[in-house]
Amino acid sequence: MAEPAYLPDDPDPSVQDLIAARPHLRMDAQAGLMFDGVPLARIAQALGTPVWVYSVDTMRARLAALKTALGGLNADVHYAVKANDHLAVLKIFAEGGAGADVVSEGELRRARQAGIAAADIVFSGVGKTAAELRLAVAEGIAQVNIESPAELATLSAIASAMGKTMQVVLRINPDVDAGTHAKITTGRADNKFGIPYADAADLYAHATTLPGILPVGIALHIGSQILTLAPYRAAYRRAADLVRGMRERGLMVDRVDCGGGIGIGYRDDAGASPDGFAGVLRTTFGQMGVRLLIEPGRWLVGPAGLLLASVVLTKANGRFVVVDAAMNDLIRPAMYDAYHAIVPVSPVDALASVRTSDIVGPVCETGDTFARARALPAVEAGALVAILDAGAYGAVMSSTYNARPAAPIAMVDGGRWTEIRPRQSHKDLWANEHVPDATTVWN
Ligand SMILES: *Cc1c(COP(=O)(O)O)cnc(C)c1O
Repeated sequence: MAEPAYLPDDPDPSVQDLIAARPHLRMDAQAGLMFDGVPLARIAQALGTPVWVYSVDTMRARLAALKTALGGLNADVHYAVKANDHLAVLKIFAEGGAGADVVSEGELRRARQAGIAAADIVFSGVGKTAAELRLAVAEGIAQVNIESPAELATLSAIASAMGKTMQVVLRINPDVDAGTHAKITTGRADNKFGIPYADAADLYAHATTLPGILPVGIALHIGSQILTLAPYRAAYRRAADLVRGMRERGLMVDRVDCGGGIGIGYRDDAGASPDGFAGVLRTTFGQMGVRLLIEPGRWLVGPAGLLLASVVLTKANGRFVVVDAAMNDLIRPAMYDAYHAIVPVSPVDALASVRTSDIVGPVCETGDTFARARALPAVEAGALVAILDAGAYGAVMSSTYNARPAAPIAMVDGGRWTEIRPRQSHKDLWANEHVPDATTVWN
């Protein structure tokens, strides 16, 4: 099981244990918390808080580790852009040899803008519009992951009208419970995703008869933050059975897109092992002569980012610690009850006696809570804290709720840092808003 494996009253890991579990973090006795050799206090001082910090080395190391684990398999990594779509992040993964898994026109355009070849892009999503499918065909991307008969028909009409053939895989719904949070499980029959397992072979046979379409395989993606191998084993076994059955019917099936979902350790645990995941792929598909694609997002980029915040004040003898980051910046705790480790940045604060606090933001909602009843060294007003493992589903999900401008982003690389997105100005917040007046033309 995923996050439910931790009971609400499990003790929180110590600051030392949290840092020891993260090879790119170090507590320096003078400079405080360092991310890949850069004192985080220096970035906060220069750019203010809240501020996101991404580590290039962490992204590179994780992609390399994943590729090593996949060694010997005919498998390609397509980074799930939705986890973190900053152009600089996309460029790092592209340079590391990953393609992209996109879910919208905007992500497709971002991936192309970052220099990712169309031939290295796959397009997932349950509701692609005709305009999006037209763009995919025009760009000549590698594959469209089809999620419904209606989408298949639309793509066939579009591609054949354009005189093109688009390779497709059918995303099947294996009806497997990934054992993760209800809002991020995607592979159960009652989820909106994919084609019912029992319908897949017939629809695939139908696809072979359609103009503008070349069916090459199947796809599945059962959810996110999956920490055990059992759901993968069950889902991939069903996928392999389906491929065998389709081949017995004389259908050509050469590709299995295995999706993403590999979980990370948000506490002091190691998260899911890429070796274990690759082992399941090897056991299930190793002898089948299929090309494999995987679409990890969180595993590659989650631990590579953190959110720095300052303590604004404490209340009720430290029962509440109010910081200047909020749910509009990082919504995962509010939306998924997600656990994010929080550590003080100052070496002195890190040694303070531990007390139990709610770490909350200033937004006018009780849900604006980063941690409830968290054991943490006592931090007071002005202290810097780092909210860890915020590289995935962090900045991409942020909003300007409460008229809070988007936080800046810094990137650290080889002991140096640079700003890769400035703080949004307050003026930018209303720059495109029109207030009707006497001169307004109403339609
Ligand atoms: C979100 C998503 C992914 C990535 O999921 P992670 O949990 O970040 O690895 C991969 N494939 C599809 C189709 C997705 O929707």
